[in-house]
Order: sequence, then C-alpha cells, then structure tokens
Amino acid sequence: MTKIGVNEPCPCSSGKKYKKCCQSKDLEEKRKRLDEINKLEKIYLNGQEEHSNKINYCKEHYVELFPDCKIINLTNYINKDNYRQILTLNYNKNTIILVERTDLTEELFNEKSNLESNDLILIYKGAYKTFEALDILKYDKDISSMVTNRDNGLTM
Ligand SMILES: [Zn+2]
Repeated sequence: MTKIGVNEPCPCSSGKKYKKCCQSKDLEEKRKRLDEINKLEKIYLNGQEEHSNKINYCKEHYVELFPDCKIINLTNYINKDNYRQILTLNYNKNTIILVERTDLTEELFNEKSNLESNDLILIYKGAYKTFEALDILKYDKDISSMVTNRDNGLTM
C-alpha cells in the first residue's frame, strides 16, 4: 500500500483531505491488526495453559525425546487462517507445537490430514506431521528425522 499524505485528497473520494476523513479509521484498523499479531506472538511464546490428558501425555513424551526443544500446545489458538502466520513465527525457533483435533481445529485437520484417525499435529520449524496420539511411539522415527532435517536446514 502506498502511503497517503495527510493533506492529500482521501482515497475514498469524499473530496475531503485524508486527515479530515479516513485517516483515524485507518489508524484504528492498523492498531487492531498489530494487537492481533502481538497477542498471537505472546501466546506463541508459551502456548496455552490448559492441556488435555492427550496433550499432556504427548508433551511428556516429546520432552524426553527432544530435551533441547520447547514444547507448546496451541490447540485453542491455531486455525486455518493464522496457520501460515504461526508457521512463520515457528520457522527459526526450537519450539515444537502440538495441536489436538477438536471442534476448533477440525477444519485445519481436514486440510492437513487425509486420515480421520489422525488426531494430533506436530509442527517444527515450519514442517509438520499429523498422526495418532495413541500410537505415538510408531511415529518417533519419522518425527525425529523431520526434526533433524529441519535443524540441518533441509526442507522436507
Ligand atoms: Zn475518506
């Protein structure tokens, strides 16, 4: 978007100067967008506080498997719309994101997984795997190699 001078005619073609017309509305919208990003970043740093039993079980498992990584749960915050943004935040951090299939994340799962039995997404540095939480050990090799590849800067 090109920057509009405050004394230039407003782009809404009201005939008024920008500062007398849409400027305050535009600033308010910009502030709201920044608030959203800040909120997302804050949540992203620590994840949500509450965990289901399934997430607790998986968190404990991955803490042991990847002691150098921080593991957070974003089930209540991630969705189809902010998924890319969260991936970008995740790109350079040693943070593993866990997401459980719930009503809130159903749409995201349908997009990322072709198996209905997959009830967990693990995201690391922009790469992801969907799998069955109850069968978690089965995926250790896959997920370990995904993490190693990402740490070595390889794309999947
Ligand atoms: Zn205007």
